[in-house]
Amino acid sequence: MVTITIQELTKRFGGNTVLGGVSLQIEAGELFFLLGPSGCGKTTLLRHIAGFYEPDHGRIWFDEEDVTRVPAHRRGTGMMFQSYALWPHLNVAQNVAFGLEERKRPAREIEHRVNEALEQVQLAGLGTRKIQQLSGGQQQRVALARALVIRPKCLLLDEPLSNLDAKLRHEMRSEIRRICKEHGLTAIYVTHDRDEALSMADRMAIMDGGRLAQAGVPQDVYKHPASRMVAEFIGETNIMEGRVFRESSRQGYYDVETGFGTLRGRPNETGWTPANGQPVYLSIRPEALTFHHIMDSTNRFPGQIVDTTYLGSTVQYQIQVQGGPLLKLTEFNPFIVRPPGEEEVRAMAAMHDVVIIRK
Ligand code: ATP
Repeated sequence: MVTITIQELTKRFGGNTVLGGVSLQIEAGELFFLLGPSGCGKTTLLRHIAGFYEPDHGRIWFDEEDVTRVPAHRRGTGMMFQSYALWPHLNVAQNVAFGLEERKRPAREIEHRVNEALEQVQLAGLGTRKIQQLSGGQQQRVALARALVIRPKCLLLDEPLSNLDAKLRHEMRSEIRRICKEHGLTAIYVTHDRDEALSMADRMAIMDGGRLAQAGVPQDVYKHPASRMVAEFIGETNIMEGRVFRESSRQGYYDVETGFGTLRGRPNETGWTPANGQPVYLSIRPEALTFHHIMDSTNRFPGQIVDTTYLGSTVQYQIQVQGGPLLKLTEFNPFIVRPPGEEEVRAMAAMHDVVIIRK
């Protein structure tokens, strides 16, 4: 188990600043996710931690050791990539053994540790199989065993599941989390799949243009997004614009004037007091909007349904608010399915579900 500290990491490729002063601490034993849109610098940051790149500025520490200029093979990290990078001419055991042979471990120890690693990923007994005789999911497990066999200080995973179909991806999510937790591994996992991050992460960092937009536990990032970009990246949401009008009669809530009426919501950050007149965004998740009556008389959206998508467990509606935005509303376990039409409907949101974000 190792604590990883990243200080002010900066990297330029040609004229492009790909990492713009990233600072981050990943705690020992934590399953930490790096998440963000394509090109935001996730893989570049992971490659610095692995030792494949040296930064222009900044440092990386594994516990008390400054590893910034330590070569990759001396860092004790296990890597797993999107392309499994297995050798087709070697069998399963030989693929897993590779890292130990490179380290010139004795044959008995190699055999023992390969079997142990194959057991960890539930491939015991398949050591003599050829790689082509394995399913995609099994090949992914071999790649994981190969990363684990060296007993790494930390595990670095770069989009490891993106080649798998949806069912296998789900299975492997819980498998990877189980292995990390059973072995107390510090693990850093790069993905652009928000469901993967929300369902697996102890904590996550959202990156945007080479900078850290927010770091936190999944529920915090989802419920208290630090910016419009984070709110939109981590889940579906409705974004509206407005100006803070006043602090409301309910402590901690503010009234925000929009082009279609006043809405009441809470600031995304505790400790932030929005000033009167301040321009802000409002974010309301589709599942926070409802047709049913809620006690508050605030945050009502009269409008017409313009689109209905029935998905079994949910129905997704689009509602054109009179003189206002097109809102997405998701209803779970629907009792009735409302068709699009002229009839007026009224969507509502509780005030704690209306999140005020700095503009
Ligand atoms: P994706 O999800 O698409 O893999 P990412 O967030 O992992 O994206 P990076 O691979 O870190 O992004 O790339 C960040 C930026 O740096 C991109 O604009 C990319 O083109 C650029 N880049 C990455 N590696 C190099 C390199 N070796 N030389 C020049 N530019 C590079």
